[in-house]
Amino acid sequence: MWYERFLGPLGVDMGIDLGTCNTLVAVRGQGIVLNEPSVVAVKKGTNQVLKGGQAVGWVAKEMLGKTPGSITAVRPLKDGVISDFEITEAMLNYFITKVTGRVRMLGPRVVISIPSGITAVEKRAVFDSAEHAGARKTYLLEEPIAAAIGAGLPFAEATASMIVDIGGGTTEVAIMSLADIANCESIRVAGDDMDEAIISYLKRNYSMMIGEQTAERIKIQIGSAAPVGEETEMDVRGRDMVSGLPRKTKITSEEIRDALSEPVMNIIEAITRTLERAEPELAADLVENGITLAGGGALLTGLPVQITKATGLDVALAEDPLTCVARGTAIYLENIEVWKDTLENNSDI
Ligand code: ADP
Ligand code: MG
Repeated sequence: MWYERFLGPLGVDMGIDLGTCNTLVAVRGQGIVLNEPSVVAVKKGTNQVLKGGQAVGWVAKEMLGKTPGSITAVRPLKDGVISDFEITEAMLNYFITKVTGRVRMLGPRVVISIPSGITAVEKRAVFDSAEHAGARKTYLLEEPIAAAIGAGLPFAEATASMIVDIGGGTTEVAIMSLADIANCESIRVAGDDMDEAIISYLKRNYSMMIGEQTAERIKIQIGSAAPVGEETEMDVRGRDMVSGLPRKTKITSEEIRDALSEPVMNIIEAITRTLERAEPELAADLVENGITLAGGGALLTGLPVQITKATGLDVALAEDPLTCVARGTAIYLENIEVWKDTLENNSDI
């Protein structure tokens, strides 16, 4: 638009990583300006967002598992699918408004990264939500591409690179070359499933119930995919399933590694399957370029070692894996004029 040459600075350009656990917003020239859990508080049994729509993000996450009878906190993207369009829209609206402020002459241009596994209907819903929230132009970008850009991979060049983005609800595995995805797979096994595996383990072996937040803490503190460093232990509090009373117990890092072995194996299998499907020339490039990990789940201790063991390839963590996708969307925005034709076209929406 001709007026953007004059009004451009008034409008905000933002990149949004709409994650199953966390939503991040990066603004051109400012870096990451918002980083909040993808959680919304609603009236129980309805999809009615709490009055004023303020119970989103951190405020709502505090409520998870602790809400009084009439309220529940939900994660509308939990499994990488949008479980409720209205709640997702309310969340996106809240985050966009929080960043732009209420009064703006010009709506923002928005690049939203979405899990590559979501359906056309879900894409449409995300797209519409952004428009309803006042976006003047909306682009959807597949998450592996955003992750690859954020990780600084040579994704537009004639050499293959592989990115594995392990989030809360989904793991996205993709081989990229010449600014396009050559092979990819999205599975619904990621960080949340690791937490679930820890919950089951304590149930099975200690007859103890623990909450999701506790399970996540155990995973982060003493969880691992392979034995690296010293073995440790941790006190865990929960509820005894027999007596029904609160109790504490000690667990070791070996036990938690054992508990995590199944989700870890599922993730590694998705990686090897994708490698097996790659064209020989691309596979050859990967011997040089290796595999790059992004997303919070990539921070699990010993995961790179375990993936190297299974694939024989070098595995590196992207710098700051939790913000990789959001930074990628911001870089995409800066280059949007060059890239918008080559990347995900939004014409099918
Ligand atoms: P999404 O993109 O789906 O919102 P994120 O990339 O934000 O997900 O990652 C969230 C996941 O990363 C959660 O399951 C969280 O428990 C996990 N996570 C965060 N930090 C660590 C860590 N240090 N070790 C293991 N897992 C972690
Ligand atoms: Mg993510």
